[in-house]
Parts: sequence; C-alpha cells; structure tokens
Amino acid sequence: MQNINMTTTHPRKLRFGLAANRLHHESANAACFDWLRLSAVGIESLGIELHTVGRTFDAIQREGLLGSYPGLIRYPYGREGGLMKLVARVTESDNNANALDGAIYLIDPVDPSSIFPEALALKRQCITHGRPFISTMAGAVEWIEVERVLAGFEADPRINRLFELETQCLAMIAHDALKHEMIAFADRHFDLLCRYTRRVATGTTGQRLNELAISRGWPADTPWVDRYLSGPMGGDAQIADLVLDGNCQRVIFFEDPHVARQHEADIQLLERAVRVVTREATCATSPNVADKWAQAVTQRAEA
Ligand code: PGA
Repeated sequence: MQNINMTTTHPRKLRFGLAANRLHHESANAACFDWLRLSAVGIESLGIELHTVGRTFDAIQREGLLGSYPGLIRYPYGREGGLMKLVARVTESDNNANALDGAIYLIDPVDPSSIFPEALALKRQCITHGRPFISTMAGAVEWIEVERVLAGFEADPRINRLFELETQCLAMIAHDALKHEMIAFADRHFDLLCRYTRRVATGTTGQRLNELAISRGWPADTPWVDRYLSGPMGGDAQIADLVLDGNCQRVIFFEDPHVARQHEADIQLLERAVRVVTREATCATSPNVADKWAQAVTQRAEA
C-alpha cells in the first residue's frame, strides 16, 4: 500500500496528470511508451502517481508498461471529461488530496483535441499555479529525472545527452509582467545558463538579458544572447524556426496568463514547434518550474 497522505515527517507522493494524443500511444515505439521505457523505474522508485486519461491509460496497460503499478490511476476518457478533471486538480493547494503537482500531456500539434479548451486551460492553470506543464517526450523524460535528482537519487546515465548543455541552444522569452522574473532567474543561474553553446531571445527580453550579462562581467562586445525580433513583431516565429530545424532544444518562456496577448497565435506557434520535435526539445513556462529545473541540473552536474 503506498502512502498518499501528507505526514509530518515525509512529503507526500507526487501526483501528475497524464494524457497523450493518439499519435503518441498508437504504435509500440510511440513517444509515450518510449518515455515510460526510460522513466518507469524512476516513476516507480519515487512512487509518483500518474492520474491518466482513459485512452492513454488503456494504451499503457495494453503495451504492458508499468505492469500492475498501483500509482497508474485511470481517469475517464477525454470525451467523458478526463482531461477536464485534470484542469481542476492542478489548481488545488498542495495539501488537498486531489491536487496534482503538474501535468504531462504529450501533444501532437496536428491532433485537433490538443487545442480543445480543456487542453489550453490545462496549460494555463499549470502556469498560473507554477506547476510544470510538460508537453514533449524530452520534457517528460527530463522532468522525472529532475524529481529523482532532487530526491537524492543518482543521475541516470542513459539520459545524459539531454543534460549536455554545451551542445545545445537555449531560447528565453518573457512577457512584460514577467521580464523582471526572467532577469532574476538568469541572475540566479547565470553560470548554468553560460554553459549553453548559444542563447537566443526575443528583442526586449534579449536586451535586458544582455544588460544583465554585462553587469555580471560578460564582455560588452559579445552579446550574451542573440536577439531576434520582439515577440509581437515575429520573434516567437523566428525562434520556432530554429526549434524546427533542430537548432534550439530548450525554450524558457515566462508567459503571462492573465492578459490578452495580441500575438497569441505566435505564442502558440512556438509551443507547437517544440512539440513537433517532441523527442528533442522542451519548454518551461513559469519561473517556479524553470528554477526547479535549474536546481536539479546544477545538482546533477556537481554529483
Ligand atoms: P519581447 O517579446 O522580448 O520583445 O518583449 C516577448 C513577447 O512579449 O512576446
């Protein structure tokens, strides 16, 4: 019997919502199954509960992954409200027995259900409540490792590739209300972010980041980030193009979920591009999540 209650001495088990679009669970080598082949041991050793929408649950069982793991919990089918139920649960406070700590929703960008209101609301409420919304296979593999490392487990060498920042490009984008959070994040994790072979950003975010870098001693004649256009002028689309060509593997995007965004389509385009290259790229959408990731990557490198 696993313990799903809060106790004073042990933090409760983590709980994640889980769903995958059909593409990602319809064949034996689909992304959802490849993720579980890499992450099942970590999921089981941490006792992470996966609150899983019906069709995805059925597919995981059919494939024989996670065996009789009691933490795999079935929700109704999407058409019966399974995904909708996840949305309410990512809004609950930590000590609520229904609360989810985040959502893993492996998205096929051309699957119409991935842009149903409940799918958009799931992302939005994860951002609002500072919980991870993980929409790619690389992101899901990485997040289980983040939880493992922060829980004191040794790094899993099979996935070292994801953590070789020296071979990767990082994109940073922050909406206006969150620009100060982006600068504070970059300041806190400056050395880690310097490990990337290249950094890019949208126009204004990039300008602020370059000013920060200079204040940290970075040479003034070499931009710390390469600046693209401002988001509303097409910067998100330019960065999406890098992602699609395999030239950018990580997007840290501090989205403001509380304002109407005139370039909403561009924002969605960038997120959809990341999901096209689901095995390679990841997107972090709030300061809380990015901080936790950075902390785990730092710890993993030092171990
Ligand atoms: P900016 O673009 O960095 O140029 O402000 C980001 C955005 O607001 O989309």
